Amino acid sequence: MSLILQANNIVKDYNAHRALDNVSLEIPEGSIYGLMGPNGAGKTTLIRIINRITMPDSGEILFNGAKMAPDDVFKIGYLPEERGLYKKMKVGEQALYLARLKGLSRAEALTRLKYWFKKFDILGWWDKKVEELSKGMAQKIQFVVTVIHNPKLMIFDEPFSGFDPINANLLKNEILERAKEGATVIFATHNMSSVEEICSHLTLINKSKNILSGTVESIRQSYRTYSYKIDFTNPTDNDSSLNESLSSLCSLEQCAGAKDLQSVIVLPNAGVAVRDVIAAANNAVHIQSFSEIIPSMNDIFIRAVENNSNILK
Ligand code: ADP
Repeated sequence: MSLILQANNIVKDYNAHRALDNVSLEIPEGSIYGLMGPNGAGKTTLIRIINRITMPDSGEILFNGAKMAPDDVFKIGYLPEERGLYKKMKVGEQALYLARLKGLSRAEALTRLKYWFKKFDILGWWDKKVEELSKGMAQKIQFVVTVIHNPKLMIFDEPFSGFDPINANLLKNEILERAKEGATVIFATHNMSSVEEICSHLTLINKSKNILSGTVESIRQSYRTYSYKIDFTNPTDNDSSLNESLSSLCSLEQCAGAKDLQSVIVLPNAGVAVRDVIAAANNAVHIQSFSEIIPSMNDIFIRAVENNSNILK
């Protein structure tokens, strides 16, 4: 696995506040990497360090295995959370200016901008002034200039905030398309649910520290609870028949259910095979579905933060 980016022991202080406390992470090439954490955790600070907008007090950033150099930022596309366009400039003129800052010739920039404007069906905006655009429209322009130079690494800070669901989806699909073509994508967000289903890797930053990193699969695996939900109908009048059949095999928690479809959550005792639980349940009731309870990333992060605070106590 080759790494496109490594952060090694990054420390950053703002006066008395340590915004990043010895943060390390490794971003594999081609991954879709979620940089998660509550507001104020330090995500933007780390991203600004990666983009060389600010420097760390200690630690280093490696890009493609070598200490990051000033020119490497041309290989990065960065969409900051605070997005500003010059209000009085015309859209096309401004997009062209920003594209040229990425190192493209005027002709190349024009060709690529026309491609994107056509794709987003916004060619009609070319001669409008930025101040005439809605927030969502301005964000589309900013997305275009973020990806115009086909960067190997794209970094989006809270990309979906302020987007309506349709445009958020459009943006998400475009980002996934870039990833399919081989780009590496970093998302920074406090909103776990907005990106958890599209990320291959995640890091959770909490109170300036990296408290959890890994592939989504390995994180989910390590936070399995080994509990299962059984949805069933009961053909007998005996409401406790399932409890009786399962009581020696697992602990049970009744869920609220309708008369015709009921549910329980079961946690098999140590050494009890899941298939024995299913067989016992099957003898007592009609099983409609049996599924493992997979904690959401949000649940996992809450537990990781709690564990971390307990360790610090
Ligand atoms: P996040 O992106 O996770 O919301 P930030 O990296 O923006 O977090 O901020 C981390 C902490 O550092 C916050 O407490 C913030 O107030 C502080 N901070 C960020 N930038 C500055 C700055 N330029 N000067 C002083 N404090 C800052």
